[in-house]
Amino acid sequence: MALIVQKFGGTSVANTERIRNVAKKVQKELKKGNKVAVVLSAMSGVTDQLVGYTKEVSELRTAEELAEYDTVVASGEQVTVGLLALALMSMGIKAKSFLGWQAGIKTDKIHSKARIEGIDVKVIKDALKKGFVPIIPGFQGITDDNRITTLGRGGSDTSGVALAAALKADRCDIYTDVDGVYTTDPRINPKARKLQKVAYEEMLEMASLGAKVLQTRSVELAMKYHVRTQVLSSFSDEPGTLLVDEEEVMERRLITGITYSKSDARVTLIGVEDSPGVAAAIFGPLADGEINVDMIVQNISEDGKSTDITFTVAKTDLKRAIAAIEKAKKVKYKKLLTDSNVAKVSVVGVGMRSHAGLAQQMFKTLADKGINILVISTSEIKVSVLINEEYTELAVRALHTAYGLDKK
Ligand code: ADP
Ligand code: ASP
Ligand code: MG
Repeated sequence: MALIVQKFGGTSVANTERIRNVAKKVQKELKKGNKVAVVLSAMSGVTDQLVGYTKEVSELRTAEELAEYDTVVASGEQVTVGLLALALMSMGIKAKSFLGWQAGIKTDKIHSKARIEGIDVKVIKDALKKGFVPIIPGFQGITDDNRITTLGRGGSDTSGVALAAALKADRCDIYTDVDGVYTTDPRINPKARKLQKVAYEEMLEMASLGAKVLQTRSVELAMKYHVRTQVLSSFSDEPGTLLVDEEEVMERRLITGITYSKSDARVTLIGVEDSPGVAAAIFGPLADGEINVDMIVQNISEDGKSTDITFTVAKTDLKRAIAAIEKAKKVKYKKLLTDSNVAKVSVVGVGMRSHAGLAQQMFKTLADKGINILVISTSEIKVSVLINEEYTELAVRALHTAYGLDKK
């Protein structure tokens, strides 16, 4: 008998009919003789609506305000867990819902993007032992001083994997509205191909670079605790995509996927004084404000006196980033420019470790389409470029074809 954690996303529980469909997926797993624990998202659109309400009444600047934000936005999942328990009970299946705090999901205190620190699985284990299907809301937890937290958008994936790790489950099945991880977002490129297997490290890069099919943190946890995780569809019985170690990926390929993200903005400081300590003076205040900086370029100055620095931050942090720089007295520059109409397009693949020329192929493909590159950044297994947002789809499709990823 195996223990399976099944996680269902927002579209999978979008209405009561779909919740009944989820109940059937649970029943099917039980009929195989397995034990099942379920993690659910809120109905699709609900979290957005709840976030909208909080913004109507607050600027959400302080930690106390973000704690109340969490209280509001965590509520969407409370509805779906109760409804699934009822649907299962009506089918004669023993089921019981537990909220994050009841299920012992302990997090740190960083409201709106908390991290799970541990799960006290006693309650869930007891329920399983007594023959119940425990149903837990994703996305939420509790601090050690009893405040409700949420894990950042898309956080139910992380709840699912964390629960599977804590229960030492045999598998974590992430059910969503596509039947696996594709070479790129199938919604913007119909030629995207489903991957049978994807290496943890590649999935980690793809998730952090915009492939929202899995929240980045969930992949980190799957990798760290070696949780056998697969992504599959709630609406079909097609085999999905399994996360595996690099050596287990049998298909020979250099590039695994193309991702894009429209969530960053560009900041350029023109005429920055070119002297030691300038970068520290700029990025120090940003770090102090918990503002993540992603891509950075600094030019070598021609006259030895002044230079330009460009970097990207999340669009949601842009206002705070500008304020932090304007307040930092040590930073001397002529002009501050910002641009929110940018997108980051990335090429990911472990093949980059051993093959030269893959970055060049990216630059040439974009040049052939007349797409200008604003910023470049690389790591061992990815190359990212920042481009004008309106060319995102064109760039993704062109790169997908250029690296031979199009479905036959
Ligand atoms: P859920 O509500 O089930 O968590 P999400 O909307 O968070 O679902 O994630 C699924 C979506 O991720 C898909 O509908 C798809 O558009 C998007 N996506 C982006 N990149 C990829 C990719 N490489 N493979 C599969 N889906 C992707
Ligand atoms: N309901 C939350 C969100 O929309 C968490 C999730 O669906 O994973 O972000
Ligand atoms: Mg999701």
